[in-house]
This record gives sequence, C-alpha cells and structure tokens, in this order.
Amino acid sequence: MGIESEKVATAAIHAGQEAESLTGAVIPPLHLSTTYLQDGIGGLRQGYEYGRSGNPTRDALQTQLAALEGGRHAFSFASGLAAEDTLLRALLAPGDHVLLGNDVYGGTFRLISRVLGAWGVTVEVVDMSDLDAVRAAVAARPPRVLWVETPSNPLLRISDIAGLAALGHGAGAVVVVDNTFATPALQRPLALGADIVVHSTTKYLGGHSDVVGGAVVLADDALAERIGFLQFAVGAISGPFDAWLTTRGIKTLPVRMRQHDENARAVAEFLSGHPAVARVYYPGLPDHPGHDLAARQMSGFGGIVSVALASGEAARRFAESTRVFQLAESLGGVESLVNYPDAMTHASVRGTAAAVPVEVVRLSVGLEDADDLLADLSRALEA
Ligand code: PLP
Repeated sequence: MGIESEKVATAAIHAGQEAESLTGAVIPPLHLSTTYLQDGIGGLRQGYEYGRSGNPTRDALQTQLAALEGGRHAFSFASGLAAEDTLLRALLAPGDHVLLGNDVYGGTFRLISRVLGAWGVTVEVVDMSDLDAVRAAVAARPPRVLWVETPSNPLLRISDIAGLAALGHGAGAVVVVDNTFATPALQRPLALGADIVVHSTTKYLGGHSDVVGGAVVLADDALAERIGFLQFAVGAISGPFDAWLTTRGIKTLPVRMRQHDENARAVAEFLSGHPAVARVYYPGLPDHPGHDLAARQMSGFGGIVSVALASGEAARRFAESTRVFQLAESLGGVESLVNYPDAMTHASVRGTAAAVPVEVVRLSVGLEDADDLLADLSRALEA
C-alpha cells in the first residue's frame, strides 16, 4: 500500500510511486517493454497487454497527475496539443461550437480553428476575464466546450474559474481549464467547479525543459472512458521514458513553484519601476486587474511575467539582448527564458482576434539567483 495524502507536496512524491515489490527499489522501474506475456490466451497480468493500451510507467504518472489535480482519472499524452486534440475529439461532433479565451496559447487556437474547423467545429474568442462578455457570447450561441486558460498566455489575464464553470454548466457546456501556467501546486480547477483540466506537462510539471508531454485530468467516469478509448484508438500516448522523466520532475513541483513565484515577484517589481517599461503583466502586482481574483483562486502567482515596451522594435531588441534569460520558446523550466510572442510562440495567431501586441515580451522566470536575473534585465533594458 502506497503513501496517500490529499496534500499536493506529498502526492507529488508518493502518488503512483509504490516501491517495487521484487527488490524494494524506492523508485519504480522504467518499463520499456512494448508487450506483455499472457498466461494462456487473454490471461493478462494486471491488465497489461500492449504498450499503446497500457504501460506501468505511464500508469504511475497518470496516478500522480490525478492525485495532484484531485481528479479520478488522468491520461498522459505525447504533447500538450496531443492531449487537447484527443480531449476535443472525445467532446465534439461536427457542428459543435467552442468558446475560447482571446489570449490562449496560439497552438490551441490553431488546433481548433484550422484542424477541427475543417471537421465542422466552429470557434469564437472572447475575453474570459469578463464574465458579462462570456455570458453574452454563451447566450448568443451556446458552446459545447468553454475553454479557459488562466493565467493566460502571454498576457496573464485571470479568469474566474468558479464563475465560468457555473455559467458554462448553465448552458450545458463542458468547462475545460488549461492549468499549464498555474500548475496544481498553485491552482486546483476541478475543486473550483471545472470539469476537465489539461496541461502541457512540457512546462512546469516536467520542469527541466527536457521532455515534451501533455495531460488530461477529470473526475467523470463516462467521459474518462471516452477519452481512454480515443487515447488507445488514436495512440498519442507518452512514451515510457517521457512519462518517467515527467514523474521525476513533478516530485519537486511544489518547491520549484514557490521559488519561481518568489523570483517572478522580484522581476515584476523591478520592471514596474523601470522607465523603459510601459506595462508589466503579472497577477502578483496589486494594480493587475485580476490581482484580487488571483489571490482568491490561486495560492501563488506563478513564474511568468510579461512586459510591454515602448514599441515592437524596442521589444525585439530587449528580447535579443538578455543573456541569463535565454531567447527560446517554451517556459516553466529551471532556466529563465525570454520569448517574443508575436514572432515566436504566437506567430500562428498574428492578425487574428487572438494576436499578441507587438510591444509584448514574455519572460519565464527560472530558479537562478534573483540578483543575476535583475542585473541581466537591467543591462538588456539599457541596451
Ligand atoms: N497550453 C499552453 C498554455 C501552452 O503554453 C502550450 C505550449 O506552449 C500548450 C498548451 C501546448 O503544449 P505542447 O507544446 O506540449 O504541445
């Protein structure tokens, strides 16, 4: 029997991580086998038959993910977008409508508009942080799926998960929250009323910029069966080593998130006092429009800080001038990264309603010493 707890720090380390029975190895082994011996035809040992349908290393991660988010079921995928694709195909049929936040991750918008769009799904974007705007959009055209990303990428808008869940459920929608930015260490959407949580585990859950992955977590048994069937039938599973690395990363998630949060606050405060900076987007700052809501629904403000400079040119120059903040896509690793959304992560939504202003630069604040981070930013802003 494993060590059980509802506390995130304990679940992160122990859920799905029982010591191996043969040797007592404290770290469960990495199972690479693609197939499993049958004791007579159909005589499966603990249900394992073939690597696409089940693998003990992936199962251990899925148990860990479900415990962290307070769900009953979790599914681990080859990437965040593979998780989103399988989930949406389990939820939607041709003719269905999706209501999406207007600054969600660009790839989510691209997946729904360009891939599922060709399949007869329609999408509309709305400011999810404005409940009245969402209420009007839901009344005008009831969606099958209400897709919430909070804090959003890259403008850190905060949306009211409990309010949106009530609104969505009133219209018969399934409410999905992309919890990639906050992680379950800081925000538990299922407890706030959401139906489903999705993750790009590539980011904070993996935490070391060395493994791409995604996850879907939920409580509903019938829906979980549909997602499980599609995961098996379509096959976008995480590989065993990817699952093992993600599990290893998750064990330190709560302690990493505390430090990301502390460093990001220092960065946000430093940038808000700098004359070259036009605006800082960080929900931990008291003047952020979502600050009070974030303080209620999150237990920290996370590690992403976005900043608007005077012009697109100034923003590009700043993004190319930092050294400790390395210029690269992605976020959530131990190392600090700088990204210019308009031409990098969000290039696919340029010119659409989900476009990111050209003045904006996104910082993924890592775990280096805060003094070095501030010195780097100061130098780059002067350049
Ligand atoms: N959701 C968010 C908030 C993201 O930032 C990303 C990737 O940047 C994704 C989903 C997609 O995840 P992946 O890149 O693992 O497919």
